[in-house]
This record gives sequence, structure tokens and C-alpha cells, in this order.
Amino acid sequence: MDFRGRQHKLRLALERLKVDAVIVTHLPNLRYLCGFTGSAGVLLASTRRPVFFTDGRYAEQAAIQVEGARVAIAKGPALASAAATALKQGFRRIAIESDYLTVAQLHALQQVLGKAVKVVSLAGTVEALRAVKDADEIGLLRDAVELSSRLFRPLLTSLRPGATESAVAARLEFMARKAGAEAMSFETIVASGERSALPHGVASAAALPSGGFVVLDYGVVLHGYCSDMTRTVHLAKASTEARALYVAVLEAQLAAISAVRPGATTGEVDRAARQELKRAKLDRFFTHSTGHGVGLEIHEAPRLAARGEAVLQPGMVITIEPGVYLPGKYGVRIEDMLLVTAAGYEVLTPVNKGLIELN
Ligand code: ZN
Ligand code: ZN
Repeated sequence: MDFRGRQHKLRLALERLKVDAVIVTHLPNLRYLCGFTGSAGVLLASTRRPVFFTDGRYAEQAAIQVEGARVAIAKGPALASAAATALKQGFRRIAIESDYLTVAQLHALQQVLGKAVKVVSLAGTVEALRAVKDADEIGLLRDAVELSSRLFRPLLTSLRPGATESAVAARLEFMARKAGAEAMSFETIVASGERSALPHGVASAAALPSGGFVVLDYGVVLHGYCSDMTRTVHLAKASTEARALYVAVLEAQLAAISAVRPGATTGEVDRAARQELKRAKLDRFFTHSTGHGVGLEIHEAPRLAARGEAVLQPGMVITIEPGVYLPGKYGVRIEDMLLVTAAGYEVLTPVNKGLIELN
């Protein structure tokens, strides 16, 4: 991983923002910038050599993992040590990650820094760097997608009427861990029957009915990187109406995929899905955004939502996941992961999208 290259890009961003240093506390950002995967650490990044602060529990791990920064073991809270060092180095304008620092942490920080130091907010700067993946990251994301996709066929064998959604999720998660996944990237969604109309139907104690849609939305974490996919299958034979809904969602998904190219805005891609559903008079049942970036976190920049102005760039890895939810009836969602390439896009998820009817 090119940690030094990333730190260099962050330094350029600090110069643009006219701040002397940034105190990084968000764990995925720490992992991205210097390789540390533990649960407690603070990076003081500036034009000087970065310093990574952690506590005694992580002394050995930090020595092994951290690249491009000096490791300092803090006696008290790592954040206070970072602030004291920043003060000693003479910094006068220091940025914090305002999306993640708690009010209590901010107060503690200001107490150390005193009135002479101006604390400014740095929101989304590291996240913007993370949105464009380098070759190493794309490789890891491919591995995560490949692992989760491999589990899809075996997962279908556990979809039997009477089995609980949680039992289906448990089987999937067991297979994922056995195959090497570090964790699931979010709570597995198994939403059957009427519950398929819940856009976020986390697997419940409900038993699968003898017929109807089942939304399966899941992903794994492998080497720190997340995957995310959704397939909606049908128990027993689908009615003409159910099949038509499935086809409408699939067409919306394909329309959004076709809109993906470098230079397109996230809003344009979102609109492509919505326009396709409008033709089928289903757009008002598509109640969430079309997709999101995926990487060290399951939801990261860019967000693909209505009126989104972020511009797609080669190296971004995103999901395309329109869904239609008819309350009290059923719902369908189809989600793939895509890599934005110089020529347009590559769909990473290899799993077929034709309607599967299980009997
Ligand atoms: Zn998903
Ligand atoms: Zn998703």
C-alpha cells in the first residue's frame, strides 16, 4: 500500500486549506493513511514528519503496521498527546475531523491547545482521497466481491419455506467466515414476503413463506475492504405482476449502470435509474439513493443520490442499487459493485441477474 503517497496527497490538501496540521482520529482514515488497523490511535499529519500516537496495548502492532510516521506511545489519552506535540511544533491552525470528534474530545483538545491555536474543521478531505482507489485497493475489493459472490449459489439452497430469515443469514455468515472473511460488512439483509418491501429488512425471526420475493443484501470484509451485493429471488413461480416489477427494477439498474462514466455526476446516474422507473410509474416507490462508494467502509464517498454533484472519476468503486418497494406487498432490489474506468465502467459483481424462481 502506498501510505507515503497518500500522506503526500493529504499534505497538499492541507496547504490548499491553509492549515498547519490535521489531527486524524477516524479509524478507517488512520488505516488508509498509515496502515494501522487497531481500535485506538491518532495521527498528527503536517508538513513535517507525521506522528502516530497510540497507547501501550498497541505498541507492538503499531511498530509493525505504521508506515510513513513516527510511532509515539502516549501515557494518557493519545489525543491530548497529539495536541501537546502540535503545540510544541508551533502549529497555529489545526484541523480536526469534525464529523467524528465528540464534543468532549474537542473540549479536551482545546484545553491543551489554548486560545492561541485556531481549530478548524476538516470534513471529507481524507474521504475524498479515499473515493479514488489505487491498484492495490482495487485488487482487494475484487477479492472481497469474488468471495461474497461465490457464496450466492450455496446460499440459495438454504432458502426453503419455513426456514427463518435469521437461519438463512447465519448459514451465509458461517460460510463467509469459513471462506476467510474477517466480518460481514453490515448486518445481513434477508427480507422475505411482505418484509421484502422494507428497504432495510435485516434478517428477522420470520419464517420464509411458500411463495414470494426474498431480498438478499450482504457483503463481506476481506483484508479490510468491503463488498456489497443484492439479489432478489422468488420462492415458487412468480406472478406476471411480480415478474414485471422485477424486470422494471432490472431495467432501471441497467440504465444507471450505462450512465456510469468518468465525468458523469452522481446525480446523472441517479436520474437514469429514476427515469426508467418513471416510465413504469414506479418511481415514487424508489425511496433511497441509487448507490454509494465502497472501500474500507461500506458506505463512503461518493454518494449517488438525486441532484448529486460529485463527478465520477476512474478508480472510484461504487454500487448501483435501485429498488422498488410496494408497502404491504413486496419489494425488489438489485445491486452490483462497479469500478469506474477510463473507458466507462466495469461491473465487478459476476452473479447473474435474471429472475431466479426457486421451488
Ligand atoms: Zn447492499
Ligand atoms: Zn449498498
